[in-house]
Amino acid sequence: MEPIPFLSLGPQHTLIHKDVMEALKKGFEKNWFILGEALGKFEEEYATFSNVGYCLGVGSGYDALSIALRACAVGSGDEVIVPAHTYIATWLAVSKTGAKIVPVEPSRSTFTIDVNKVGNYITPKTKAILPVHLYGQSCDMSVLEDIAKRHQLLIIEDNAQAHGASWNGKMTGSFGHINATSFYPTKNLGCLGDGGAITTDHEELVRFVKQYRNYGFESKNFCEVQGVNSRLDELQASVLSIKLKHLMQWNEQRREIASKFLKLLKGVGDLQLPFSPTEAYHVYHLFVIRSAHRDKLREHLASFHVETMVHYPLPPHLQKAYASLGYKKGAFPITEEIANSALSLPLWPGMKDEQVQYICDLIIKFYSSR
Ligand SMILES: *Cc1c(COP(=O)(O)O)cnc(C)c1O
Repeated sequence: MEPIPFLSLGPQHTLIHKDVMEALKKGFEKNWFILGEALGKFEEEYATFSNVGYCLGVGSGYDALSIALRACAVGSGDEVIVPAHTYIATWLAVSKTGAKIVPVEPSRSTFTIDVNKVGNYITPKTKAILPVHLYGQSCDMSVLEDIAKRHQLLIIEDNAQAHGASWNGKMTGSFGHINATSFYPTKNLGCLGDGGAITTDHEELVRFVKQYRNYGFESKNFCEVQGVNSRLDELQASVLSIKLKHLMQWNEQRREIASKFLKLLKGVGDLQLPFSPTEAYHVYHLFVIRSAHRDKLREHLASFHVETMVHYPLPPHLQKAYASLGYKKGAFPITEEIANSALSLPLWPGMKDEQVQYICDLIIKFYSSR
């Protein structure tokens, strides 16, 4: 068996190669690279896809989160509820505003924020809840919407890992007051570099974001706010338009591969397999299993040239960057338990059945020789 990489964009890129080359050529010859037609077109398409009123392209997922928080006037004196178990960008965007990060443990079975614990962390200073649809699965948005309504809090979704996912048939990225996503190349919908977007139904926020992402210009030469430079460029937007047409089909392929893994790995060793509540349409950005023997299992797979990853080995609260918050080991035991036991298996649209079978056989062999 050929080495199995953690992720291959090969099959996707083969399928769209011709269309992408044509779009890049057209964009190059058009000679208009920033804030043009291709961006407007993609923004409309992604808004329709997400079932929201508006989409605005920005420079990255981190920028999308930062600008969304800024649009809601989140800042010092505010508290924002975030998952303890997430990619560090979620935390960084919040702490940069000056607001206080209030981490909440994940559920052991879904890896997303434990909605039953969120209520315990609400204070008069709480301004927003920032749910992250981690690994491709929606948080329990029914409960979160209910909590937000009861306490008059804003929801700001981090949808970087869950393009096309839904909860009770409603798209992630359409629940919050304003939402952020990333088009980093490895995401389910990725561009050819950095990119991100904001989705919202609120026109007044659209006006703010349009200005803020472009230095705060209200019109040529007139600055209304002290903005930033964070724009999704024309070439990236044109590529995203092409990829978006295939996204649901690619997500379906991810789900098929995931269901094969689930079937072949059921009951094997001490594995804990991903769990999906019936309300969730999981788009398997990552296929994350758990084992007390994670590191040994990872080494075993690597020795047979199967590449795996760990998302994420060191939680944000234990990063040096957040030493000032004073969290010690043990502060968030479930988050730390996941960090020590989670293993992400290879999964990508176009991955072959033989590859899935091979990985599962290796895992079964690992446990039978123990
Ligand atoms: C990728 C990611 C981000 C950041 O996106 P960038 O485009 O890399 O800035 C934020 N949150 C989550 C959950 C992510 O996975």
